Amino acid sequence: MERHAKPMWIAGARATGSRTDSICSPYDGAHVGDVILADPDHVEQAVAAAHRAQRPLAQLPAYRRADALEHVALRLRERQEEMAAVIVAEGGKPVRWAMAEVDRAAITFRLAAEEARRWSGDLQRLDTDQAGEGRLALNRKVPRGPVLGITPFNFPLNLVAHKVAPALGVGAPIIIKPAPATPLTALVLGELLAETDLPEGSWSVMPVPNSEMDPLVADPRLPVISFTGSGPVGWSILDRVPRKHVTLELGGNAAVVVCADWNTEADLELAARRIAALGMGNAGQSCISVQRVIADRSVYDRLLDKITVHVRGEVLGDPRNATTTVGPMITEAAAERAQAWVREAATAGATIVTGGDRDRALLTPTVLTNVPGDAKVNRDEVFAPVLTVTAVDSEQEAFGVVNDSAFGLHAGVFTHDLATAFRAHRELQVGGVIVGDVPTYRAEQMPYGGIKQSGVGREGVRFAMDDLTYDRSLVLTAI
Ligand code: NAD
Repeated sequence: MERHAKPMWIAGARATGSRTDSICSPYDGAHVGDVILADPDHVEQAVAAAHRAQRPLAQLPAYRRADALEHVALRLRERQEEMAAVIVAEGGKPVRWAMAEVDRAAITFRLAAEEARRWSGDLQRLDTDQAGEGRLALNRKVPRGPVLGITPFNFPLNLVAHKVAPALGVGAPIIIKPAPATPLTALVLGELLAETDLPEGSWSVMPVPNSEMDPLVADPRLPVISFTGSGPVGWSILDRVPRKHVTLELGGNAAVVVCADWNTEADLELAARRIAALGMGNAGQSCISVQRVIADRSVYDRLLDKITVHVRGEVLGDPRNATTTVGPMITEAAAERAQAWVREAATAGATIVTGGDRDRALLTPTVLTNVPGDAKVNRDEVFAPVLTVTAVDSEQEAFGVVNDSAFGLHAGVFTHDLATAFRAHRELQVGGVIVGDVPTYRAEQMPYGGIKQSGVGREGVRFAMDDLTYDRSLVLTAI
């Protein structure tokens, strides 16, 4: 049977070419589809069109931009099962998590539509000093220019949505370069964007080989780069184009603290259930997956028992099954690397409480204790269904362990004590502190991003819109 490669989207229109890439399921290696790879001519067409679309898109009335975003939100809901099936097939994400991702992407588009309607800037009085008497400033939010959005494999829809929706919401054209392992989802999103009447060139979605990204990254017609992915790639982009406006959403080794006051059976049951589900969910391949559990010694044993029960209860297997909670990692090599880190920790003295086995890309959900602080499973981003559990003797020690990290995305703190919550908020070196839950919680409207090696800049619909625009003042004198 002849195989038809999925076309890419250049300037909002379908485009084909001679080079293709084959996409396979990380679960069983089955062929999922083929995609067209952009060649330098396609890249030039997309960039030139984005450059041309700046004025028409920025001048499009807000309601038309908002209507387009709302249309995509509605269509995502209508096509939820089909979109989820694509995410499952190419990314290996269990269908229940894939359905949730489509839902979140619809929310992201809806929120961007709402924000686009009220996105205005402000009026500022300048007569606060004598020199400003009789003057007013009108500060308008102006798009910085066309955006290059580069996205990772692990949330192939919602992380694309977090770039496309705010950009179109503020009137900035955007080119999406999806992850090589999961481009099909972004290409299907293109079908929904193509149903809108946004000006030609407002958006493109094109797979480009990593080795051919340099000219696109360096192109002066794309002054903004919004990157989500791994640290080495992200920082190398910033090094290549230090004068561009670059946002980096990178990795982490997120920690959750379980405090001494979180000690009833119900408390520990809730914490253990959430830690197991969100440490193992998406096979641990989320930048804010629970990786390090730091428990007060007074609750440690009971918590560990419960975490172990819940982790063993996770259902590893075929991501298409409704009952599966943990699917494969993105490649067998990624699972092999994570398993090697687990073994390295065990050699250094760690105890494997459960897990540590592997069948191709399926790594058994794993819990480790007595892990040396400098073991890779603690210190680096494991990005796998692996948890380390550590006992501490005080809140201060717990916060010290959280902060003893090169990363800083989110931290979770299970406590009932408001004073502890405020101290955590003050002292933890992260972009967000989640009290009463795991660090993996994220709402689409929150400011989202990291400090330290976890990145620069913020996403989250309104915050991304801020990031993509600058204030241009109009000073009015004597009127
Ligand atoms: P990756 O860095 O391998 O790839 C990310 C993107 O960069 C892909 O589209 C890839 O094709 C592209 N890329 C690769 N080489 C490039 C180059 N030389 N120039 C330009 N682009 C290039 O990351 P991944 O494996 O797809 O994703 C996993 C990583 O992403 C993890 O570290 C995870 O923590 C991080 N992540 C962060 C967030 C966040 O919001 N902070 C969210 C999800 C994932």
